[in-house]
Amino acid sequence: MTKYSNSAVQFPSSTSPSSLSAAISCVSDYDSDALPVSHAQAIIRHCITPIHAIEKVAIRSALDRVLAIDIISPINVPAYDNSAMDGYAFHSESLVTEGDTTLDVIGTSHAGRAFEGPVGSGQAIRIMTGAPMPSGLDTVIPQEFVSAFDGNPAESNSPNIPPLPTRSTPFITIASGAVKAGANRRLAGEDLQTGAIALKKGRILRPADLGLLASLGFAEVPVQRRLRVAFFSTGDELRSVGEVLDSGCVYDSNRYTLYGMLQRLGCEIIDLGVVADDPVALEIAFKSAAENADAIITSGGVSVGDADHTRRMMAQLGEVAFWKLGMRPGRPLAFGTINSSGKPAVFFGLPGNPVAVMVSFYFFARDALLHMMGAQSAPLPLMQVSSAAIIRKKPGRTEYQRGILVRQDNGAWSVRPTGAQGSGILRSMTEANCMIVLAHEQTDVAIGDQVEVILFDGLI
Ligand code: AMP
Ligand code: MG
Repeated sequence: MTKYSNSAVQFPSSTSPSSLSAAISCVSDYDSDALPVSHAQAIIRHCITPIHAIEKVAIRSALDRVLAIDIISPINVPAYDNSAMDGYAFHSESLVTEGDTTLDVIGTSHAGRAFEGPVGSGQAIRIMTGAPMPSGLDTVIPQEFVSAFDGNPAESNSPNIPPLPTRSTPFITIASGAVKAGANRRLAGEDLQTGAIALKKGRILRPADLGLLASLGFAEVPVQRRLRVAFFSTGDELRSVGEVLDSGCVYDSNRYTLYGMLQRLGCEIIDLGVVADDPVALEIAFKSAAENADAIITSGGVSVGDADHTRRMMAQLGEVAFWKLGMRPGRPLAFGTINSSGKPAVFFGLPGNPVAVMVSFYFFARDALLHMMGAQSAPLPLMQVSSAAIIRKKPGRTEYQRGILVRQDNGAWSVRPTGAQGSGILRSMTEANCMIVLAHEQTDVAIGDQVEVILFDGLI
């Protein structure tokens, strides 16, 4: 399978984001009626700029928010040398070269209650996990690897290790080779050193990051303000939930999938409801959206014919390109900016079909919104798995089929499409656990062929 070449998109290096027409002019074989997915993605990416507005929030409220600055560690983590195990700490030079080592146990170091005082040659202390290592000691042996005695050999808990020295104080014996010098000691700063970057600007904060921030003593953290995204559905046939479903009408589901997808991205959402296919109503909705939001997402009304009146109106409000993409589902897509009183908002006009809305959102809007949020987004990981079904595929378009990934008896994973792949069949999205991505040039897939999938769910 050959990959579709991106060479037709040549943005000058180190350019700042540009206007839509400037970005389009960089695409050598630009054809708005047959635009490959990768070209549309590149044009969109080139036109997007991050917002710059920072707010400080308590670390719990920072979950899933975009970190606005590099976080520099103000301390060493761990702050002091400490034990990685419950056991006994001593200096490795106390280990005898041949035979068992016997060490006097002269005290205990607890986490939060350090042992005070020197520990000499031939001596050890009992030490708990996380407890400070007394200075000069470099090794910890876990308690299960020693024989410990309370000072009276007759009461040995390991009577089978002869000969036992007679001592009046508690002691341990360590079998030859039971521990290496320097073992089980966590060094100050081994996790993070004072002055090192703990978390990078642009990171979307996950549970582990909240813990890391807390471990450095931060109560608050600067994050990017939430991106404001306004959305509405267009279509005379749409009825909102709770309304009577007149004949020839459908319930508006797109506003709910969009709500869910935008919430998951951490956006502040402005739901502008259903707007009729009427230029005046649409213009009012677009102006209000542009005034209040950073980005506008609509569904429906961007396919040929449909869009004529919208196109004329948008030409006055901003700069919008209407594309027919080489993809399935989700062929029509409008992208550009809409102005209201001089305030531009990025605009995505998604198709109306419910699956097409989701696919276009995930593969065009998502990355752009993340970039606007200031997030350092990495490409979504694509996994190669074998196909458990024949999949018909025409070259010349990218297909996003809804897939069910299953683990076979031999432990390998395979994927099959959910069944009917119509762009209006929303149930195919609810049944699927992944998207099968069939690249632009891909032809029919045979059983056992490798295909690329993107998982819907992750661990975090
Ligand atoms: P359009 O892109 O406006 O031509 O719509 C394509 C198809 O998607 C039509 O069958 C519409 O009824 C349907 N559709 C459009 N918007 C929605 C929506 N918000 N919820 C459910 N279906 C929709
Ligand atoms: Mg419509």
